[in-house]
Amino acid sequence: MNRKIALVTGGSRGLGKNMALRLAEKGHDVIITYHTKKEEAQEVVTAIEQLGMKATALQLDVNQTGSLDGFIQEVTKVLNEKWNVSTFDFLINNAGIGATIPYLEATEEDFDRMLNIHFKSVYFLTQKALAIMNNNGRIINLSSGTTRFCNPGYSIYASMKGAIETFTRYLAKEVGARGITANVIAPGPIETDFNNATIRNNPQIKGYLANITALGRVGEASDIGGIVAFLCSEDGYWINGQRIEASGGISL
Ligand code: NAP
Repeated sequence: MNRKIALVTGGSRGLGKNMALRLAEKGHDVIITYHTKKEEAQEVVTAIEQLGMKATALQLDVNQTGSLDGFIQEVTKVLNEKWNVSTFDFLINNAGIGATIPYLEATEEDFDRMLNIHFKSVYFLTQKALAIMNNNGRIINLSSGTTRFCNPGYSIYASMKGAIETFTRYLAKEVGARGITANVIAPGPIETDFNNATIRNNPQIKGYLANITALGRVGEASDIGGIVAFLCSEDGYWINGQRIEASGGISL
C-alpha cells in the first residue's frame, strides 16, 4: 500500500462521500470539504477513521471564488498539523449543484452562480492547489453525461461542464511534466440529493432514465467512487486527459 492524501470537494454526501470512503478503503487519507452540512461531513470523517485512515473536514463555498486563497491556507495548516507534511497527492473537484432552468428563463445571476461553482472555482482552486500538490499526483474533475446528450433545462450547467472537459485536457497537457494526470469523470444520472433530489422524488423521471440506460437503472453514488479510487491507483496512471463517461450506458 502506498498511502497518499486526497482532497475531495463536496465530500459530505452524494458522490463525494462515496469517493472519500472508497479512497480510504484503498488505504488513503482524505480531506473532505462541505458547504452547509458540517455534521454529515463529520460523520464521513468518523467513517474514514473507522477504516483506519486519517481524515478531516473543512468548510468551502465554491461560489465564493475570493475565498480560495484562504481555503488553500487552511488545507496547508491542516496538512502541517495533522500529517506533519505540507503537500497532498490527489485533488478531486467534485462539489457542485444542479438546477433545472429553461434557457429562456435563465438569468445572469443563474449563469454567474453556475459559472463560479462549476467552472471558475475548479479552474482557480486547481491552479492554487497545484502549489501544494506532490509530483505524480492525480486531478479528477467532475463533468456530466449532459455534455454529450441534451437534457432540457441544463443549458447553463452542461455548458460549464463542457468547459471543464476542455480545461481538463489542457491541464493534463500542462501538468504532465510533473507526472500529474488530469481526467474527467462524466456520470450519467445518479440518485443523490442533487438538483433537489429530482431522481429520487420523481419515479416517472427515474423510470424513464432507467429505460434509456443499457444496464436498466439509474446510477448510485457507489457506482462512481470506485472509478475515482481506480484512477488514483498505480494501475490507473496511464489514463490521462480523458473524459470517462460512467452512466451504465445511457442514450447509446
Ligand atoms: P449532492 O449529493 O447534492 O452533493 C453536493 C456536494 O457538493 C455536497 O457535499 C455539498 O456540500 C457540496 N456543495 C454544494 N454547493 C456547494 C458550494 N457552493 N460550495 C462548496 N460545496 C458545495 O450532489 P452529487 O450528486 O453528489 O454531485 C456531485 C458532483 O457530481 C457535482 O459536480 C455534480 O455536478 C456531478 N454530477 C452529478 C450527477 C447526478 O445525477 N447526481 C450527474 C452528473 C454529474 P453540503 O453537503 O455541505 O451542502
